[in-house]
Amino acid sequence: MLMSFPAGLCPTVEVGGYMSGWGYGLLFRKYGLATDNVIDAQLVDAKRRLFDRKSMGEDLFWAIRGGSGGSFGIVVAWKLQLVPVPKTVTLVNRILEQNATKLVRKWQTIAHKLPIEFYSGITFAPIDIDGHQGTKKTIVASFHALFLGTIDEVLLIMQEKFPELGLLREDCTEMSWLQSILYMGLLPNDRSYQNPLLSPSFKAKSDSGGCIGRGVGKTFGGRSTLCHHKFDCIRRNNGWNSIQCNRGGILYKIVYSVGWAVEDNERWEWYVNWSRRLYSYMGPFVSKSPPRAYISYRNGETSYEEARVWGIKYFMDNFDKLASVKTMFDPDNFFRHEQSITTLSSPSNMEL
Ligand SMILES: Cc1cc2nc3c(=O)[nH]c(=O)nc-3n(C[C@H](O)[C@H](O)[C@H](O)COP(=O)(O)OP(=O)(O)OC[C@H]3O[C@@H](n4cnc5c(N)ncnc54)[C@H](O)[C@@H]3O)c2cc1C
Repeated sequence: MLMSFPAGLCPTVEVGGYMSGWGYGLLFRKYGLATDNVIDAQLVDAKRRLFDRKSMGEDLFWAIRGGSGGSFGIVVAWKLQLVPVPKTVTLVNRILEQNATKLVRKWQTIAHKLPIEFYSGITFAPIDIDGHQGTKKTIVASFHALFLGTIDEVLLIMQEKFPELGLLREDCTEMSWLQSILYMGLLPNDRSYQNPLLSPSFKAKSDSGGCIGRGVGKTFGGRSTLCHHKFDCIRRNNGWNSIQCNRGGILYKIVYSVGWAVEDNERWEWYVNWSRRLYSYMGPFVSKSPPRAYISYRNGETSYEEARVWGIKYFMDNFDKLASVKTMFDPDNFFRHEQSITTLSSPSNMEL
């Protein structure tokens, strides 16, 4: 049986922060987050003592698996549970040419009801329409998915659950599990890997669409202000963003990304401001009560005064319990940074 671990998509991410901050990947709908698959850990605390799961106790073991890195101690070892994966998986990629608005809205209503073997998302990206890079561009929405099974199974399921998509066999590619990891991580299918993700430069922000409103489907799929924002950006260079389907109470993790060529690095501020404008434009359409964000896409732009506000944004009801665990195991706040978990007596890390 082929075994794997529910790890992330990106080859440049290290294990320390990834495991401390939930860690999503291609397998999370079937097997949960990376932190759900940790069996044991070894942690060094501020007094240089070494603990394992038994000696640290279940509260601290809970906190280090998603309560954010750099808050409780240094994890020096993780013991992981592997999970079975099929030898053959199917990648799906379909550009939504006709009725994109309707299809994006429909996807929002069915994505979380697809079998848990599906990881799916919608991406909006600029493409060249005149064949000359950078001169004339338009925006296309595309549906993409990884299915833990064969093309025949994908076609049957999509015919039943999402017939409007009109998925064709040629939109699907069967490959080995290992090849799919390389593909999703944008790695070449050989040994010539030279860290392509270091270029171009990019800025990303995250949001959640647990309370995604009717407006957003229309907005994403239509020629609305969002597209004006995007056109505004791609006229100058290169912008894209994506929505990915999550599970449970929070249905969608949204990533707004903008990338630019290395030659344009001097103008980085323009791109960063563009992503801020897009983020704030999307505010009314995403989760609001309270707004939510993924801890591993830390939003360093939140002011420190809002310590509890961002704490709840990332951790919701769990924030207070994390602060209690922090107070018990690191009362002097030795492990801290701008957005580490605070002790109950110092609700902000402002005076770092
Ligand atoms: C290009 C890119 C793609 C990404 N893709 C994914 C993805 O597919 N899935 C996903 O879930 N996330 C993804 N992320 C987010 C990623 O999980 C976080 O950025 C994560 O914090 C990276 O971990 P790191 O150890 O590399 O980072 P670092 O910046 O080194 O660490 C992040 C925090 O964790 C702390 N930390 C690091 N190691 C330890 C340790 N051993 N013990 C205690 N604390 C520690 C650090 O002090 C810091 O506070 C992606 C990020 C990028 C930039």
